[in-house]
Amino acid sequence: MELFEIDPELFISCRLCLDEKGIYQIIPSVKDQIKYCFDIDVEQFDGLPQLLCKKCKGVLSEFYETKKRYKEKQDKLIETKAPKRHLFCCLQTEAGCLQVAEQVAEKLVNQVFCRL
Ligand SMILES: [Zn+2]
Repeated sequence: MELFEIDPELFISCRLCLDEKGIYQIIPSVKDQIKYCFDIDVEQFDGLPQLLCKKCKGVLSEFYETKKRYKEKQDKLIETKAPKRHLFCCLQTEAGCLQVAEQVAEKLVNQVFCRL
């Protein structure tokens, strides 16, 4: 088993600001929030601080809620309001080349006579 030495003063600091003493333990769900919001990896046995101060806990919580809310709204916006691309599919028929809109083309895409 390999043991590594830590800096006891640093170890009780807040992992994010490093200025304050940490008072909240970084549990797995908080670890995920830190990664999601700030792209910082906190590993349980990395020998670095595993605590958050009160101020950073508040910042993280607010940032997380805000980012999640904006992301959900954007996803919904793009899903429902983004302009539809008008790809056309060239459908060979006896009458010639018939262009059909994307929605129709998708239904026909598996059929051999549909060429993009
Ligand atoms: Zn802090």
